[in-house]
Amino acid sequence: MDKTKLKSCPFCGGKAIISDGVTPRINGTAYMVICTVCHTMSNLYGTKRAAIKHWDRRVE
Ligand SMILES: [Zn+2]
Repeated sequence: MDKTKLKSCPFCGGKAIISDGVTPRINGTAYMVICTVCHTMSNLYGTKRAAIKHWDRRVE
């Protein structure tokens, strides 16, 4: 298990989770962060690490 340090949603303060799925936009699995409360989504990234990094940056 990798530790995911996700910050809370910048809009509602809700819990954010990593979601992954296959998308035609990226050739393979893509990851994004989604708020479980207001369903705000980040962009799609090729790695979990990138998705988390960008989400955290957005919050700060
Ligand atoms: Zn939210």
